[in-house]
Amino acid sequence: MDLTGNFRQQLAAKALQRQLERVSEQAQAPARSLGQELAQAPGSAAYSARDALCSFETMPGYTQVKLLREMGDKLRVDSPFFRVHEGTAGATTQIGGKPYLNFANYNYLGLAGDARVNDRAKAAIDQYGTSASASRMVAGERTVHGELENALARFYDADDALVFVSGHATNVTVIGSLFGPGDLIVHDALAHNSVLQGAQLSGAKRLSFPHNDWRALDELLARARHEFRRVLIVVEGLYSMDGDIPDLPQFVEVKRRHAAFLMVDEAHSLGVIGETGKGIREHCNVPSRDVDIWMGTLSKTLAGCGGFIAGSYALIDILRHLAPGFLYSVGLAPTLAAASLAALERLIAEPWRVKLLAERGHQFLDEARNAGLNTGSSAGFAVVPVITGSSLKAAQWANALFEEGINAQPIFYPAVEERAARLRFFICSTHEPEQISRTVAVLRKLAQ
Ligand code: PMP
Repeated sequence: MDLTGNFRQQLAAKALQRQLERVSEQAQAPARSLGQELAQAPGSAAYSARDALCSFETMPGYTQVKLLREMGDKLRVDSPFFRVHEGTAGATTQIGGKPYLNFANYNYLGLAGDARVNDRAKAAIDQYGTSASASRMVAGERTVHGELENALARFYDADDALVFVSGHATNVTVIGSLFGPGDLIVHDALAHNSVLQGAQLSGAKRLSFPHNDWRALDELLARARHEFRRVLIVVEGLYSMDGDIPDLPQFVEVKRRHAAFLMVDEAHSLGVIGETGKGIREHCNVPSRDVDIWMGTLSKTLAGCGGFIAGSYALIDILRHLAPGFLYSVGLAPTLAAASLAALERLIAEPWRVKLLAERGHQFLDEARNAGLNTGSSAGFAVVPVITGSSLKAAQWANALFEEGINAQPIFYPAVEERAARLRFFICSTHEPEQISRTVAVLRKLAQ
């Protein structure tokens, strides 16, 4: 595309961004009641005001969705979202009948699709059927639930563990039910949406501290701790947007000094960091008990779907009996529990997978840095962003990569600030060194 075309596209995208900002503000503004709407709209307009309040088409969310789609059209991006993969997606995948190198999933250790994991899942279907059919409390457990929970508790060196049907729902229901009004939830500014949703549900006061900045957290608590009853600090073991990690020992020290609970979301660090994949505690040499709530997902290295909590007997006892997302939701499908148990066993028996993943991640990071690409603060473990600095560039690079048979996810405004727009690369232990070098070579050309 010529320079003028490029400039016109940028202007159009900027105008749409401003519209998006306005709509997002509207969506967050306090709602007006029907009475207020009618008072503002006398006569026949009152009817349309009434109609507007019972139509999805007039909801600000729908305007947001349409604007985002329009932005994609203006940026001339084929939507990278909801692409249909025609088989197991790992280091490679098939889309539209064509093979692609794939950097857009969390199958970090190549265990989703592993023949032995598949066999265990199939055997579980034969034994238990495809569903747990109701809540475990009322409809009963399946042996495989207990086996998975025991294995997770052992892996985390914790008293006990509990599995839930979704990782997102785990954070929402656990944070939402353990804390309440009068409490404080402080989280890293880049914490996952599920943490924010849980905090909102709890009714506790929610504050954030700048990314990975334990000193800022310390100052915040020095100022505000005395105003609250219980305090929960939430961090992640590996941040999926930037690929960096927290200084866990410092967070442990801060939480102790301020009499707070510490929760670590290990969605992206379990099986990824630490010599044998035991996550951030192994990487930082922190005893398991220094963290009060270990949270993780079954959907990434563990090749299944669901979430879990590991911790003390008391914590798991409370959640097993009182967390609404456990109590009032169906038990994890036995076939998924069996898949994750098999994946955990493979991870423990084959630590070479973790080592290989670290090598591949560091290779990607080193080669990208040498090519002059901006990889932000990535530590080179499975997640490496390539910051393009504009949504337009991220879109163009994603398209160019796709044409070269490489699938990578662009991240646009408003998911990140415009100047932090990027491509995000998720690296798996099953990526070949040559595949990584080829991808970085294409990026290097695009950056020139
Ligand atoms: N926590 C973090 C940090 C995540 O990145 C995600 C999703 N990628 C979740 C929780 C939710 O997990 P799930 O997708 O398994 O529901």
